[in-house]
Amino acid sequence: MHTNPAAAEDGFETIYHIYNDGNYVGAVNEGEKVEELAAAKLALAEEDFTELDLEPDESFSMIAEQVFEPSENNEQEVLEKLDQELDIKAASFALTLDGEVIAQLKDRSAYDATIRELLLAYASPEELDQWEENKRTGNGLPELEAGQTQITAINIEDSISGTRDQADPETISTPEEAAEILLAAKDITVSVEKQQKEEENVKFETVEKEDKNLFIGESEVEQKGKDGEKQVLYKMIEKDGEQLEREAVGEAVTVEPVEKIVLNGTKELPSIGTGEFVWPAQGGYISSKKGPRWGKQHQGIDIAQPDDFAILASDHGVVKTAGMHNTFGNHVIIDHNNGFETIYAHLDSIDVKVGDKLTQGTKLGVMGTTGRSTGIHLHFEIHENGVNKDPLNYISE
Ligand SMILES: [Zn+2]
Repeated sequence: MHTNPAAAEDGFETIYHIYNDGNYVGAVNEGEKVEELAAAKLALAEEDFTELDLEPDESFSMIAEQVFEPSENNEQEVLEKLDQELDIKAASFALTLDGEVIAQLKDRSAYDATIRELLLAYASPEELDQWEENKRTGNGLPELEAGQTQITAINIEDSISGTRDQADPETISTPEEAAEILLAAKDITVSVEKQQKEEENVKFETVEKEDKNLFIGESEVEQKGKDGEKQVLYKMIEKDGEQLEREAVGEAVTVEPVEKIVLNGTKELPSIGTGEFVWPAQGGYISSKKGPRWGKQHQGIDIAQPDDFAILASDHGVVKTAGMHNTFGNHVIIDHNNGFETIYAHLDSIDVKVGDKLTQGTKLGVMGTTGRSTGIHLHFEIHENGVNKDPLNYISE
């Protein structure tokens, strides 16, 4: 609304031309009456729309003119006509989609709330709060904790904007209503870029080392492996809530893994016996000694009812015989390369072959009852320089 102070120069008077809605309404002498009329209409409308910022229609204007001889005017008629025609509008913020106004909002912050309402279809409130906070402070993105996600960019791919406007007070939408209108008007496309930090395992590595104190073929775990931890930063792109891309863009190890260390023996297997013999079974008892039996000589000892059927090399040596024999059945002979030989007979199965180097205590087969045998047992002999000896002079139960 435009008014000029009334200038009362000699012989001149000020009149006021009134325009509304693109039309000339008429002229009045007293501009204050027009202002009073507008103020009264405004006050009346404000009773109904207390939340809105009301003002006369922007097409309403009053232009002062200096005239020498004012013509007679119909001021009262003009005021009545204006009273009927003058609209009271709300100052608004128009929401436009592809250049067309699709809703009227109260103000700029209602427009921002509408956009947020729209984005809530694609991101969580927490994510949006963080995103808005980041934009507001301009401090850049905060460092994420493991398990956290944050938005790094939002792009609404449709042309949505807002502009200052005027609207009928009853057409003003709430942000929720405007967002609904927006989502109903078109398939809005929103892409969101996010960062995510996750804690992940770091698999331990296995390192093999040679160990000269272990025999070839033997191995030992010197150090147990333990997985470590790392934090991995992912970059993700979501379009309309659907994940299009997820890529690791960085990682930091927080707990170093502990490597597993395995020692592999390099020591040559001893092929020469110690001269000391160990019990060739696991438990069991002597069911028959060396000596006369059933009118014959029993050439060794019998061991029966062991805890486990494994048969063990009584001393270091080299397998001289491994195979079937009428009397002995499956049997093994070890040459201890120090004048001694040991015989293991009636085995159910043999685990070694001729030429194998065996260390003392190595399993060479399974106790059985093959050959000339009554019941499961081990027949065990010791020979020294070709002479059959009593094993009980060398070993005991
Ligand atoms: Zn026997």
